[in-house]
Amino acid sequence: MRRIALAARPQGAPRPTDFRLETAPVPEPAEGEFLARTLWLSLDPYMRGRMDDVASYAPPVPLGGTMEGECVAEVVASRHPGFAVGEIVAGRFGWTSHAVSGGAGVRRVDPALGPVSTALGVLGMPGHTAWVGLNEIGEGRNGETIVVSAATGAVGSLACQLARIKGMRVIGVAGGAEKCAYAVEKLGCDACLDHRGADAATLSARIAEAAPQGVDVYFENVGAATLAAVLPLMNVHGRIAVCGMIGWYSGRGAADPMPLPPVWRLILTRRLRAQGFIIFDHEASRPIFLQEVAPMLREGRIRWRESVAEGLEAAPEAFISMLEGGNFGKQLVRVAAP
Ligand code: NDP
Repeated sequence: MRRIALAARPQGAPRPTDFRLETAPVPEPAEGEFLARTLWLSLDPYMRGRMDDVASYAPPVPLGGTMEGECVAEVVASRHPGFAVGEIVAGRFGWTSHAVSGGAGVRRVDPALGPVSTALGVLGMPGHTAWVGLNEIGEGRNGETIVVSAATGAVGSLACQLARIKGMRVIGVAGGAEKCAYAVEKLGCDACLDHRGADAATLSARIAEAAPQGVDVYFENVGAATLAAVLPLMNVHGRIAVCGMIGWYSGRGAADPMPLPPVWRLILTRRLRAQGFIIFDHEASRPIFLQEVAPMLREGRIRWRESVAEGLEAAPEAFISMLEGGNFGKQLVRVAAP
């Protein structure tokens, strides 16, 4: 088997040398366990946080440990009564070609819902995150205006489409002309603004033009200049679903601190609600999300897009690139063919 271990804790942006490819014999499942062969590995921004030795909502990956991550895998040997050979499952097996599991936290993937890779994207954790952020945290309503940052990414692309289906005015923010065109033409955004090469004031003016009624909901994925651009445009009683802050993940925030007093004053005077959420707390709504979104996918009412890196050894480069916007849609690694 092959796995990718954390070789060093990154200083700032991760580098290829922070990862190490290791090989070992394929493990044998004991009684009550099964052996999973990874087909797809999901690469997600939160993994950057796991590389640092700091307290967070989840413990860091230990040095030399397998990088954390969710996989779609095939059961290839089983001594577990609940998992049969040939079944497709999703589990947090890590950046690895094979894993032995006792089944804790593993869910079955229904191939009838869509290609099995979608269990890591639009029908998986990122899709569920979009659904929760829009409906339960942002409380988006028909007729309101929403801004979604990282609009063409795994989370943002579904947030935009669900908001459009709700009848909201949807303003995307994305990196580059191609992504912005995709957000308008394929995701149904009313407008999409390019954050690259624009300072916060310029971006803010462009968003203001696209949102003449102001902004009721901000689906916050990135922090940094985009947050500074959107915050002054929030309407009274606006909601900010604080989902992520990828623009600050590699410590870059230290270079552009946002003064807290004006931020606090805006929250007070506009009576804003900014609520952080972590999707692991929302497991109970996953079936409701799937019931709602899987039919939309089948009927072609929503689109999804994947960036696929080939082979486990390509995972570090793909991850590093994703943090800089190199992905266009859900970033996956095809670890093995089914
Ligand atoms: P994406 O597929 O959106 O990929 C990340 C994207 O972030 C890049 O493609 C890039 O898009 C954008 N980006 C990177 N740096 C910057 C920057 N400095 N300013 C603006 N945009 C930037 O990833 P996901 O959809 O998986 O995740 C999106 C966000 O949601 C992340 O912050 C993630 O941590 C968070 N998240 C939170 C969860 C929770 O439970 N709270 C669960 C899942 C995800 P572009 O080229 O358009 O700039």
